[in-house]
Amino acid sequence: MAYDLFFQRETDADWSMHPRGTPDEPKALPLEFTTTERKVLKLLEPTTATFAVNIVGWARNKGIPARLSHTAIYSPKDTKDAYEHGRSQIQPGKLDWHNVGRAIHIVIYKPDGVTLDTAAYPRLGAYARSQGGEWLGDKPIKGKFGIIYDTVHFEYHPGIKISDYRKSELAVREFAQAQKRAKRYA
Ligand SMILES: [Zn+2]
Repeated sequence: MAYDLFFQRETDADWSMHPRGTPDEPKALPLEFTTTERKVLKLLEPTTATFAVNIVGWARNKGIPARLSHTAIYSPKDTKDAYEHGRSQIQPGKLDWHNVGRAIHIVIYKPDGVTLDTAAYPRLGAYARSQGGEWLGDKPIKGKFGIIYDTVHFEYHPGIKISDYRKSELAVREFAQAQKRAKRYA
């Protein structure tokens, strides 16, 4: 109970502007990497690793529980499997950003810890693009069994198209380096 100076009477109305406190941004989450995440970061092409830290850090700072999933380097066989299972439109034998450590999968789960929080992705996708990266979550992929959206998939290859990259010296070099890292950290 307080004395209302304006109406000159006792009142128990809450005078504060925000009775339950200001609904501000959720609390930032610590940027502590798990063992899996640290391994993924070592496997990635170095500028892609920096990009991964940047976007995961940005998300956690906003209270979005983004994590790097185990996927880092795909062997050509992994690429073939993804195609066979309708998860990718990259045909077997063709180089894919995963083969060179320039693609990552980021999981954002709902509080149940198992369901992907798909609604949380567009903001992260937009941020990734603002940093020179790419997100596949809003791009339909024609897989073997129909259209899919690869919500968790992010890439980093600023200014380079896959068709040009495949013909480049850089691709040859990065593929060799990536496969070497995959073997070393397997
Ligand atoms: Zn992927």
